[in-house]
Amino acid sequence: MAFSLPCTNKGCGKIQNPYLDITDNKVYCSLCDKEIPGITPIVKNQMKMNKQFRQKQPKPFGVKCPRCGRDDRPKLVGQDIVCVGCNNPLDHLSEPFKIMLRDKLRTTNNDV
Ligand SMILES: [Zn+2]
Ligand SMILES: [Zn+2]
Repeated sequence: MAFSLPCTNKGCGKIQNPYLDITDNKVYCSLCDKEIPGITPIVKNQMKMNKQFRQKQPKPFGVKCPRCGRDDRPKLVGQDIVCVGCNNPLDHLSEPFKIMLRDKLRTTNNDV
């Protein structure tokens, strides 16, 4: 479960899933992108456990393809994890990561 809390910034004030920036250990609103001050270390720890970090790329389970350089969520073709850009299998990934990814892609695809 993602951790949510109300943003304390003026003009926002919405309940959202904030994220932690590990470079400065501050919590930011995911909607207005401003710092939410006064977050206790306990909450920050909880966010760390939830892996609610500042996302560099919005796509979950994104993988950069070494062949075409596309940074996107791959698709699952049989047991192969395939780049959506060039349709080549992403065989440079480690086996544990592939197993995790297969699992995630399978459940994610069911949502669509
Ligand atoms: Zn906000
Ligand atoms: Zn590719």
